[in-house]
Amino acid sequence: MIKAAFPGSFDPPTLGHLNLIKRASGLFDSLDVIIADNAQKKHLLTADERLSLMKGMVDQAGLSPVRIVKWDSLIVDYCRSQDIKVMVRGLRPLSDFGYEFELSMINKTFDSKVETVFLPTDPKYFVLRASSVRELVILGGDVSRMVTPEVEALLKEKLIP
Ligand code: ADP
Repeated sequence: MIKAAFPGSFDPPTLGHLNLIKRASGLFDSLDVIIADNAQKKHLLTADERLSLMKGMVDQAGLSPVRIVKWDSLIVDYCRSQDIKVMVRGLRPLSDFGYEFELSMINKTFDSKVETVFLPTDPKYFVLRASSVRELVILGGDVSRMVTPEVEALLKEKLIP
């Protein structure tokens, strides 16, 4: 039984994240999506909003065995508490690699038993990142192929005066 976790800020959750969740849930026996609830980081959406949107997306996609949780401490501590040995992260352009690789090295120093597994993005979502979605909404751009209507509606509510 191989249990995996997929941690992130998900501010907001996107269809790129959902694609990764679908694929990872087919590879592992269980998958916990961890919504990082880090008080030091400034988020547009609250952890509860991110959790509720992600839950809606995962349920709608019929991936209900996937668990969505909030966590306000080290991700490796969550993994340890649930006996999870695999952390899944996504890679888009090469520029993601440096950051993700360094993060995996840091996590390794905290817990050498947790392995990071990288999944390349689906080409459809190559240029999709949460920060661009937020900027596009402010500029009035079309984000319907990037996020669900529920996510789009909340972003508009928060970002457009
Ligand atoms: P973002 O990088 O979009 O701001 P997060 O920091 O919450 O979002 O990302 C959490 C994880 O999801 C990271 O490993 C990131 O590389 C991955 N990810 C984000 N968007 C995509 C995407 N479009 N395709 C594949 N992986 C992605």
